[in-house]
Amino acid sequence: MRRYFIAGNWKMNLTRAAAEALATDLVAAMPAGDSPVDVLVAPASPYLLPVASVTAGSHVELGAQDAYFESAGAFTGEVSVEMLLDVGCTQVILGHSERRHVLGETDEFTGKKVEAALAGGLKVILCVGELLSEREAEETDSVLDRQMAGGLKNVDERAMENVVIAYEPVWAIGTGKTASPDQAESAHDHLRKWLANRYNSEVADRTRILYGGSVKPENASELLGQPNVDGALVGGASLKADLFNAIIEAAVELAGS
Ligand code: PEP
Repeated sequence: MRRYFIAGNWKMNLTRAAAEALATDLVAAMPAGDSPVDVLVAPASPYLLPVASVTAGSHVELGAQDAYFESAGAFTGEVSVEMLLDVGCTQVILGHSERRHVLGETDEFTGKKVEAALAGGLKVILCVGELLSEREAEETDSVLDRQMAGGLKNVDERAMENVVIAYEPVWAIGTGKTASPDQAESAHDHLRKWLANRYNSEVADRTRILYGGSVKPENASELLGQPNVDGALVGGASLKADLFNAIIEAAVELAGS
């Protein structure tokens, strides 16, 4: 049985004080004792340390929104895997559609980051997803195949234990348009079959595949209730403690049902 995983991508939002306050509210709302759901927040880099001091010792894990593949040197503006580990991150989001489509990152570039993050000891949330034009041209499966092959190029079966996939249709990110539960399930099923082909059925069964794209409390239960949806990567709704907590609560309820 795969554990639900709810991750919040705060993107380039909040102030230091607001990030600390949001983390404080999330930590306070986590159920006491063992939680049946994994929870992570990914603040902007300057707020990793202050948020780490709030989440330390809690069930809320700390993630970064990106990492570079070199370990040190003349790479202005970049942040290494070692630096992220040093400030308390356990995971990193890689290949987010905004990095691919706003900043022009390729599958190959994403693959190098995935390889470096895993080698350095960070778990990876690898994002994949098609543009609206690609969906309309019925290219969704081939786009996902290409992004998976590039992102996981040098990732072996063992390293896959530390990889989570996030299916994020680009047309649903920050737009208020959510993939229907059927559309999400069909893409997740395709991704799981891809994992079975590339690795084996064990890797396919155990790898968590999150859905991302305008997840909110009103649609969380239905999306999370799909057989191949193992959690959510949440943008906008992760910036409000009550909304994010309601999504976590939906997962907790499904985990117990
Ligand atoms: C995201 O940024 O990964 C995302 C899914 O954003 P939103 O929930 O705002 O669509």
